[in-house]
Amino acid sequence: MSDAVKEAVTRRKLERYMELLTSQNEELNLTAIDDPAEIWVRHFEDSAQLLTLYNFAGARVLDLGSGAGFPGIPLRMGEPKINLTLLDATDKKVEFLRLVCDELELDGVACVHGRAELLSRVDGWRNGFDYVVTRGVSRLNILCELALPLLRIGGKLLAMKGVECHNEVVQAGNAISTLRGQLENVHRYTLSSGRLNAVVAIRKTDLTPAAYPRRYSRIKAKPL
Ligand code: SAH
Repeated sequence: MSDAVKEAVTRRKLERYMELLTSQNEELNLTAIDDPAEIWVRHFEDSAQLLTLYNFAGARVLDLGSGAGFPGIPLRMGEPKINLTLLDATDKKVEFLRLVCDELELDGVACVHGRAELLSRVDGWRNGFDYVVTRGVSRLNILCELALPLLRIGGKLLAMKGVECHNEVVQAGNAISTLRGQLENVHRYTLSSGRLNAVVAIRKTDLTPAAYPRRYSRIKAKPL
């Protein structure tokens, strides 16, 4: 297939995704943004930025708290060789994710209803991913406890944040070392609207101690 044809197919699929998002938003509370031009930039373009930073071909990637599919679905559209799992704790959102994968013919994407901290105790999940990508789920210290147990040693958490994330990164220092991670990079990037965002990359350097993750109530009440 020529590049021009591929681009046309991708555009058509993104348009269909936009239709699904805007038509089901009211019922499912999928996004706070309802202007299509803004959805294009702040969801589609923002999610796809990860493709400019890492090569995901052949990688096992978990989108933790995918919601309406961000960043996982645009990522999979740009790199069909990703082995992708979309996880969300809300049943209705997972149903929506299944519908999108079906309509956009994204084969082989696993859409899972569940909680990251519980799945960490399930065979095949702990140490099971090369990348955990995530956006808008929680503060970085809490996110590290949800995500790091799920990574293989050498795997990376890529947390998409606003550009003003410096304090959050500093506050996560204890969580990162306790869970056996290392801050690798904060990649800053500019969207076509001029908005600045960042990807915080944390590498897992060793096995996370078995005591983590704790119960969610505990994680929230006493964050590392
Ligand atoms: N990533 C999407 C959605 C962000 S909203 C975006 O950027 O648009 C956060 C989502 O994380 C919600 O859909 C919520 O159900 C999910 N979530 C929160 N805690 C979770 C957990 N512990 N395990 C799995 N999903 C979780």
